[in-house]
Order: sequence, then structure tokens, then C-alpha cells
Amino acid sequence: MDPPSNSEQRGKTKIANPKDAIKFIQRLPNPGSQVSAGFPALAEEKTMSQVAISPKLAQLLSSSQELIRSTKGFMPPDEGTALAVSLFNCSASFGYPAVEIGSYIGLSTLYLGLVAQHQRRVLISVDHHRGSQENQQGWEFHDPILVDPVSKKMDTLYLFRRTIDLAGLNDTVIVVAADSQIYANSFREGIGFLFIDGGHSLEQAEKDYEAWVPKIIPGGCLAIHDVYPDPSLGGQPPFILYQRSLREGFRVVVSQGSLRVMKKDSS
Ligand code: MG
Repeated sequence: MDPPSNSEQRGKTKIANPKDAIKFIQRLPNPGSQVSAGFPALAEEKTMSQVAISPKLAQLLSSSQELIRSTKGFMPPDEGTALAVSLFNCSASFGYPAVEIGSYIGLSTLYLGLVAQHQRRVLISVDHHRGSQENQQGWEFHDPILVDPVSKKMDTLYLFRRTIDLAGLNDTVIVVAADSQIYANSFREGIGFLFIDGGHSLEQAEKDYEAWVPKIIPGGCLAIHDVYPDPSLGGQPPFILYQRSLREGFRVVVSQGSLRVMKKDSS
């Protein structure tokens, strides 16, 4: 897939009938099929096949489906939809900023940003834009198109900004090109929704967790991507964060593929 082109296409196709939007969502691949066995059977844990998607949210997502499909990233449609639904439904978080750690080129930012824009709140998207370890040359997820020819370093910032621009999300997404811990040290607000999808080494993942999770308000939500209980399917740091969150007052509300969304106790 190519990144969004320079053309003026905004990727938005008006869906006249909300039922058509629902059909688009229902065509997403295998809802719920990747949920692994062995998760705690909590009463409110739901896969996407069990979660009602409001017609408004379905319309939001389908209106940007062309842009979503043409944006590079590591977020399958069913998990992206689950992420959007989680932000849409995390009612205690309304009125507080949503924060994303790990922007890359903005695919997950589209899912979250479209909802945040509808909710008239900001999405703060934090990334140093130099690529995670697995994106560097010689690693599995390296993409040479993302190397700045002058600095020879990874640079995802310009394509990220292009994605935000094409989606019409400049009034919603606050772009923070910085180390997430450094930024967290100067960030004093409570946050309503946190999505952790930054560096996937244990050291980096734990730093992101410790810097940002304490800022989540009671009743707010924490989403973690790339949670693989089975080590043969993926690295363990996000799973370790997920397990830690369950020990620290969170409970799972949505499981979809490798995405887990937890709600913080409101007491
Ligand atoms: Mg990820």
C-alpha cells in the first residue's frame, strides 16, 4: 500500500444512509475471531461481535474508509474499529483529552481522531517520529521510504501530518513530536483515554506505562495494542503491560485481535 498521495483527495465519501455505513462495518474481517483463549472471563469483556456500533460512529468511519485503507500502518480494520468504538463509548472520559503514544503515519490516529473530533475534544498524538526499534534498518518492519535522505534517520512526521491534513483533523489532533516521557513530565492534566502503541521493547513500554497511566482519570480507559498472550505470535512487553493494568485497578472491556481496552475503577 502506498501512503496518501499529494492530491487533494480527502478520503471522504458521504454515506447518505446510515444503514450503508453499518454494512461497511459489518464487512470488516472476522470480528472477534482472533481473541485468544485464556483471558479472564470478565463479565464486561466484549469482542467487537458483541459490541453495538452506533450509526453515527459507523458513519464517521465509513466516511473516511478510503483514507483509512490507503494509510500505511499496523492496525487491522477490526482492531481499529474496536479502538474507535472504545473511545466513543468511554463516557467517563468525555471532556478530557485522549492521548495516543505512538503515531507512526497516523492510521490509528484516524480511528481515534474521527471520534475525538465528533466529541469536540482533542487527541494528543505523541511520537518522536524516528521509528521504533522494529522500524529501523535491518529490522522486520523497516520501510526505506521513511528514511530522511539527509539525516539518514527515520522520519514519519511529514507523512503523519499529511494523514491528519487529508482527514480534516487539524482542529482535533495535537501533534507532539517528542519523547513521550519527556513530554509526560510537563503534562499535568488528567486524561480520559490513553492508547499505548509506542516502542515495543520492555524498557520503552514500561516507561510509557509509568509516565502516562497514572494520569488516567477514574472511569477513564486504557488501550494497549499488540497484546499477544502466546509468545509465538508476538513480543511480550505489551502483554506484560496488560497484565500489570489488571493488577492495578483496570478491567477489560473490549478484546479484539491484539487490542485490549481496559476501564479504570471509578472508586
Ligand atoms: Mg501496534
